[in-house]
Amino acid sequence: MYVDIHAHMDFDDYKDDLSEVIEDCRSKEVSVIITNGVHKEGNRKTLELCKKYDILKPAYGFYPVHCAEFSEEEFDKEIEWIKQQKPIAIGEVGLDYFIGDDNPDGDLYKEIQIKCFKKMIALAEELDIPIIVHSRKAEADCINILEESGYKKVVMHCFSGKKKLVKKGVELGFYFSIPANIDRALHFQMIVNQAPITQLLTETDAPYLSPNPGERNTPAHVISTVKKIAELKGFTEDETKKALYMNYKKLFE
Ligand SMILES: [Zn+2]
Repeated sequence: MYVDIHAHMDFDDYKDDLSEVIEDCRSKEVSVIITNGVHKEGNRKTLELCKKYDILKPAYGFYPVHCAEFSEEEFDKEIEWIKQQKPIAIGEVGLDYFIGDDNPDGDLYKEIQIKCFKKMIALAEELDIPIIVHSRKAEADCINILEESGYKKVVMHCFSGKKKLVKKGVELGFYFSIPANIDRALHFQMIVNQAPITQLLTETDAPYLSPNPGERNTPAHVISTVKKIAELKGFTEDETKKALYMNYKKLFE
């Protein structure tokens, strides 16, 4: 009954042993892994993997950094393709203004990112499915754009925004998905304290954000997150597991 609502099982990190990773998850009672595409090629690979493994559910999207790499025409074509599929969610989408190895241009293509993000929100609304949002160094813009859209089936994934923004997201009815590195990340513990249990979900962002630094992450690590949420909220592990599973069912099914 454990759920990982945000992972990237199509990444090369799993190319040699995906079956074993999935078997291990199954044996530990992980029943759903939502695997998120980050560009056209990733979306196709995600589709193939989800046909092969029933534990995997597809979310299709465009990681914000990749938006500027494609023409608007190509982007719109991908939206049309997504409409023909049956994704469980739209993801990974959002905004990223952080200058890093995977985003050397920072917010240079901000306008393009915003345009793409708005199209993805409209797509989620049209399909009536949740949207899984990445918001690195762009948390306020993300929350404001989502608020303006009026769309409510929103999951803020791995949210790094300040307490005030977490409060705003909670008031808007958004969900917050908590990654497996919560034990050493006080920020995510703050989110668990701020949000009611009814607006929390678990994720791993695997292969990233392992609870053990330097290691490849796996969806099985949602188990330790449930433990930590239980501890912070003062519920039993079993109560927490059930509540989080119900949240998943309510939002995604
Ligand atoms: Zn991700």
